Amino acid sequence: MTTISGHRGLEMEEPLIFERDAPGQSGVDLPAPPTAQTRLGRVAPRARVGLPGLSEPEVVRHYTRLSQKNFAIDAGFYPLGSCTMKHNPRLGERLARLPGFADLHPLQPVATIQGALSVIDLLAGWLKALTGMAAVAMTPAAGAHGEMCGLMAIRAAHDHRGGPRRLRVLVPESAHGTNPATAAALGFTVDTIPATAEGRVDVEALKARLGFDVAALMLTNPNTCGLFERDMLAIAQAVHDAGAFLYCDGANFNAIVGRIRPADLGVDAMHINLHKTFSTPHGGGGPGSGPVVFAAALAPFVPLPLVVHNDDGLRLAETQDEDDGTALAYGRMKAFHGQVGVFVRALAYTLSHGADGLHQASGDAVLSANYLLARLKDRFNAPFPGPCMHEALFDDRSLKGTGVTTLDIAKALIDEGFHPMTVYFPLVVHGAMLIEPTESESKATLDQFITTMSGLADRAKAGDVAWFQAAPRLTPRRRLDETLAARRPVLRWRPE
Ligand SMILES: *Cc1c(COP(=O)(O)O)cnc(C)c1O
Repeated sequence: MTTISGHRGLEMEEPLIFERDAPGQSGVDLPAPPTAQTRLGRVAPRARVGLPGLSEPEVVRHYTRLSQKNFAIDAGFYPLGSCTMKHNPRLGERLARLPGFADLHPLQPVATIQGALSVIDLLAGWLKALTGMAAVAMTPAAGAHGEMCGLMAIRAAHDHRGGPRRLRVLVPESAHGTNPATAAALGFTVDTIPATAEGRVDVEALKARLGFDVAALMLTNPNTCGLFERDMLAIAQAVHDAGAFLYCDGANFNAIVGRIRPADLGVDAMHINLHKTFSTPHGGGGPGSGPVVFAAALAPFVPLPLVVHNDDGLRLAETQDEDDGTALAYGRMKAFHGQVGVFVRALAYTLSHGADGLHQASGDAVLSANYLLARLKDRFNAPFPGPCMHEALFDDRSLKGTGVTTLDIAKALIDEGFHPMTVYFPLVVHGAMLIEPTESESKATLDQFITTMSGLADRAKAGDVAWFQAAPRLTPRRRLDETLAARRPVLRWRPE
């Protein structure tokens, strides 16, 4: 339906703020500056800077309207596989907003930030306990940054040991794209390990690729097919026998928290996406936090800064120092001390659940995914036999011959009020649909989603291709040319 205004009911058509620019308008009322001779010479501005001029109410409306176009976990079911979009307890939000945390400045004297340092220290203790690890680097800003932190510690350990240079990193073909990207960014050659027909690492193929030039294997467990790597101990043994380290991508930690300690599986380093497993609103690029836990063999190389205890409280070790045990620290990952707001939320999440609550959360996450898998597998093909861990994977085999694709199902879900699942990842499965319900959804929500997905499957089988191809119908924008957007991204507004 077209309206005269371009708005659709309470959903406003919202141009870019630059397009709303009305030169001369401003949100503040300042007296005109006294005229003065410019002394800027050749660096004096020659043209308008181009910042949009708008009144305060217009600016407020612009950003409020944009925020209302966002889909959020607070608004509805968000089963985006691999992302663990769980409820963010209001308790964590409230604590993170306490002025004593929210208004801190990283350059404050250490004596005035003892509370924040103890949050970092307490959380570090929990992360080590939950993973069975010896040390943790708290500063990495996200999972991918944590991968980089882990591989840099591994490289530092190899350099310290001496011997031939190890320039290869092994990565299973089901891995998240950040794994090979991280290894390549650090100058390693990436070698791919194939998956078995059961969706797990092919251990024989792995052994054949191991050698004196391999620095590490990067493995995700549970893996991105939603399956537990059952041969983990044999894999760790083979990696260690070759003198390499086992890096675990811990993005799927939500399936095993409080049940298995990665250290007991032979893992040497693992990042933890606090913004997935330990709550925190995320998506759209932040905020995130990716602490990395390390086994004893890598602990000496953990990057700075580290929180250390001394007589008058807590302090930050910021330099390589024998007495602090940081003599071999390889450097640092970022300025300052990490994402304190996320630490506060993660600690609140952990303490409010307690050990028994964390154990139950991972169990409920796995139960929810298996419920979805069991109820949907007669409509959508599950490529690997269950049970699954905390996410259910389907491929597009049951859509074969209908003309309807995985992308069409995702677009149709938007009209139904659901955020689509992860699609076309992992790459090892054709037309993948990776559904992660998390522990924080009710059975009623899962049932509503199952009914919708089943209805979409029936509709596809009934041959309603045109209906699918026109989806989504109810969004501010319909189907976009995603190929063009990827090939010719327009990332900056320019005046016509
Ligand atoms: C999310 C994710 C990452 C990357 O984490 P970011 O925090 O987004 O950088 C890596 N691996 C897997 C399996 C993931 O799901």
